[in-house]
Amino acid sequence: MEKIQMTTPLVEMDGDEMTRILWKMIKDELIYPFIDLKSEYYDLGLEYRNETNDQVTFDSAYATQKYGVAVKCATITPNAARMTEYDLKEMWKSPNGTIRAILDGTVFRTPIIVKGIEPCVKNWKAPITIARHAYGDVYKNVEIKVPGAGKAELVFTGADGTVIKETIHEFDGPGVIQGQHNINKSIESFARCCFNYALDIKQTIWFATKDTISKKYDHTFKDIFQEIFDKEYKEKFDAAGIEYFYTLIDDAVARVMKSEGGFIWACKNYDGDVMSDMISSAFGSLAMMTSVLVSPDGKYEYEAAHGTVQRHYYKHLKGEETSTNSVATIFAWTGALRKRGELDGIDALVDFANKLEKATIATIESGKMTKDLALITTLENPTVLNSENFIKAIRETLEGML
Ligand code: NAD
Repeated sequence: MEKIQMTTPLVEMDGDEMTRILWKMIKDELIYPFIDLKSEYYDLGLEYRNETNDQVTFDSAYATQKYGVAVKCATITPNAARMTEYDLKEMWKSPNGTIRAILDGTVFRTPIIVKGIEPCVKNWKAPITIARHAYGDVYKNVEIKVPGAGKAELVFTGADGTVIKETIHEFDGPGVIQGQHNINKSIESFARCCFNYALDIKQTIWFATKDTISKKYDHTFKDIFQEIFDKEYKEKFDAAGIEYFYTLIDDAVARVMKSEGGFIWACKNYDGDVMSDMISSAFGSLAMMTSVLVSPDGKYEYEAAHGTVQRHYYKHLKGEETSTNSVATIFAWTGALRKRGELDGIDALVDFANKLEKATIATIESGKMTKDLALITTLENPTVLNSENFIKAIRETLEGML
């Protein structure tokens, strides 16, 4: 069989620990035998980030801006323990944070659905994709513990000296205050990322805030979304047969629970933080969740939603067998390859990505899976495979399909 040829390189971001081990297995078993892989390789493993003073992370993000599509392995975000473990020069920032800031992107997380791993919510038939606004609100807040009686004020001093002042509260005893902000430009980017992605995957998109209570703050989010939608997207949505639906956050939560899924749910920062964990655990497992960072000008970075699976890596280092789930990392590759194929007009690449996803799902549905899934499956007598044999089993299914 001839290998599929590519025209533009994929930006490949390697990572850490167990997912780095899986990364190589996936390439060796599921990519190289079928595709003449063109990639520009960036090693985001913590050792090389440390060696390059994190420059490699920045370079990989710039390469994504240049080429348009990246695939990323999970990486360690250093903490105090990692400083000693890797003898780091500095506590380097989260690579995901750095890349997201450079691409000004929004993260879309989607569960991978297979028969035998049933969502807890019985009526959810299709995945619900969560889009989380990744800037501001409570994550960039300023707080004061009020020691006792006094007056709290909200003051804005304009660059031209104009002062806007509001009383927050007249305290007669101790309490707490919190200042939050957001920026129109960031909300606009978020809205465009959401609308573009909805058009991209041809799914209806929901957005919700608490604008009835927060008449200026949340209402601004609502207004910006509506203005951008009406001006730039309404016609395209009509043509694609999809909708933009705005409602109150409490109504959205109630409707999500009763829905069949199959749509995108755009959330403010905090809502997205909370709801993405609800969605992933209700659909089954973090190891079955993909994630794509989309920039407002249409650059894509695909990855698994989970981390580096540290515990399995230490077992692997001791020479013990692991059964680590590679599905989300495989889907990061298929997402990136499919997008590259679409952009470059290479049908064989799109077709391959679709088949590899089908083969992965079919393998699990035939009862072959990793331990994490065997623990929650409704299939009887599943075969638990180790990390390597699971990937090999997928290859066998794939070869049968090609
Ligand atoms: P983790 O996602 O690696 O693991 C959380 C739990 O889920 C563990 O019990 C793990 O065994 C299980 N799990 C996750 N993925 C699995 C898989 N594919 N197969 C089987 N079980 C799986 O998160 P963590 O333990 O909190 O963090 C480990 C490292 O990953 C940290 O250094 C953290 O900084 C990093 N991290 C990276 C990313 C990313 O790059 N996107 C995201 C989260 C955490």
